Amino acid sequence: MNTGSSGNVSARTSDGMLITPSGCSAATLREADLVAMSLDGTVRGDAAPSSEWSMHAAIYQAYPAAAWLVHTHADACTALACLNEGLPGFHYMVTRFGGGDVRCAPYVTFGTPELAALAVAALQGRTACLLANHGMVALGRDADDALAGALLLETLCRQYLLARAAGAVRLLTAEEMQAAQERFKTYGPNTPPR
Ligand SMILES: [Zn+2]
Repeated sequence: MNTGSSGNVSARTSDGMLITPSGCSAATLREADLVAMSLDGTVRGDAAPSSEWSMHAAIYQAYPAAAWLVHTHADACTALACLNEGLPGFHYMVTRFGGGDVRCAPYVTFGTPELAALAVAALQGRTACLLANHGMVALGRDADDALAGALLLETLCRQYLLARAAGAVRLLTAEEMQAAQERFKTYGPNTPPR
């Protein structure tokens, strides 16, 4: 979902978080390269954390249920975010992110506390958001959950952009989205599909 050194991943720890280092490439990343730091920005060791560490830290502070975060510049998410639009309820799977849509946080410079605050606001009641002219963030209760959310959001954004390009998309009504959310409560054993 990322090319080059864009994007970053983190996991909450007992005393802060582990986050991918600044400018790292997924192809060469080793476990020893991960940066341990507190949520107020104190780094343990010499490595520089991802430039988006403050966004990760702010999300962990705001949402206690978040245990893992995935931030990518994946194509379809970023394309929709460059329209400065969120993902509307065009498909019932959108409800897997916690509500009737996925919001898009307004554009500000990457790596700033302002972006962290805007991402936190856009994630209210949701497990993912888009970042205008930038990319997306997905949070999860574990690594698989966060990655599954990121992959689902990219798929849905691609499907929405395809549908938009083909014609006028009929959005689901609030009642239809609510019914899908109710249906998911009785779907599968413990792990709802992403
Ligand atoms: Zn980014």
